[in-house]
Amino acid sequence: MILPGEQPLNGLHKNLSASHLEGEEEMLAEATLASALGIPPAPIHNKIYLRHRQWMMRAMALADAAGKLGEVPVAAIAVGPDNQIIAQATNRKEQECDPTAHAEVLALRAAGKQLGNWHLNDCTLYVTLEPCVMCAGAIIQSRLGRLVYGADDPKAGAVRTVLNIPDGPCSNHRLQVTGGILAAPCRQQLQHWFQQRRQQQRAN
Ligand SMILES: [Zn+2]
Repeated sequence: MILPGEQPLNGLHKNLSASHLEGEEEMLAEATLASALGIPPAPIHNKIYLRHRQWMMRAMALADAAGKLGEVPVAAIAVGPDNQIIAQATNRKEQECDPTAHAEVLALRAAGKQLGNWHLNDCTLYVTLEPCVMCAGAIIQSRLGRLVYGADDPKAGAVRTVLNIPDGPCSNHRLQVTGGILAAPCRQQLQHWFQQRRQQQRAN
């Protein structure tokens, strides 16, 4: 299944295209992904938490692929009410030479196209990093049902950390927000990428 905005992926990322995995196969795929990403076993077995964790791991694997292409490793996945994937995207600022090509904006656009409807009230958007001002604005414009994100962004987070755009006076939409799903691995993924880039810059 090729999703809107999807780039060809290989290796670790090849399972991401599967829209539905069931039972044992699903558990095995999750365990493989968790181990590849260095994520420890789930501390709690709440069904909703495990679902959030599973989508976040998929987003992290996408972000990892984007990082290898020179993009800041952030990814977003839009999921429908039946827990089915609708669209996914990574940061593509470098590749597109587009300052607005953040993962969230691209995933929301692709989800709207896929559904034939820009109202995303029934969707959940998973993103590895707390959205910035632009993306928080796009999320409100899309009437998104729920946002689930990984790491807080202490410099530019516009959902909770620096600003709270969704609950602010310029927002005409109230959305459900769940932050901190796999926060530490998501933060480490970004820190590791920036660390590597600094090392490369020093070497050049
Ligand atoms: Zn953004």
